Amino acid sequence: MDETPRCAKCSGIFCYPTIKADQEPSFEKAPSFCPTRLRKDVVDSALREYDREDVAEFARLASVQEFECYEHTPDGIVTKIPRIEETIQFAQKNGFRRLGLAFCAGLTNEGRMLTEIFEGHGFDVVSVCCKVGAVPKERIGVKPEEKIAGAAFYESMCNPIAQARTLEAEGVDFAILVGLCVGHDSLFIAHCHVPMTVLAVKDRVTGHNPLAALYLSRSPDYGRLRRRRSE
Ligand code: SF4
Repeated sequence: MDETPRCAKCSGIFCYPTIKADQEPSFEKAPSFCPTRLRKDVVDSALREYDREDVAEFARLASVQEFECYEHTPDGIVTKIPRIEETIQFAQKNGFRRLGLAFCAGLTNEGRMLTEIFEGHGFDVVSVCCKVGAVPKERIGVKPEEKIAGAAFYESMCNPIAQARTLEAEGVDFAILVGLCVGHDSLFIAHCHVPMTVLAVKDRVTGHNPLAALYLSRSPDYGRLRRRRSE
């Protein structure tokens, strides 16, 4: 019996079955690693969080927004809007007025374009680049030879904690993360105390679309992703 949740190995037909609204999902035949069965106490305690008025409303609006990203057509249910529009609509639903962009210096153009789009929809947009503070990388122990431009050059560290704190100090209603690297995004998320979403993640070789490499992982170009460490 596997007692570690492993939803990624499940068909998923048990927790989102196609049944009528007055029927209940059955977990009798769910796999032994199913967290709905294994972690009922955790699921129940999580559910109690939704009893808080603010959480309940936020969760409700998120699901309404999700619903509005689809439409019913004679050919079935189809998707209809990109994530930028989804973000705008969700912010409007919540009554957010002041948005905070935390963007990577490598995506400055994208930060500008997003600002124009959000401003065009009536939002006040605060933006903070990852290099805010211009603190040299040596401050966090990076060795000269570990700087991207080379040991001879000055290089500012990415400062996601300062990004998060600046946005919070500016009183933004909603923070939007744009293209921070792995690890820098972790720090931003850990230190961001306002509601936030991720609009884009950094992926230097796929146009910031990490799943492109996943979809190509059976091709020779990215086959190395599937190789086991021992091979
Ligand atoms: S919660 Fe259970 S039924 Fe749902 S995907 Fe995970 S293992 Fe499968």
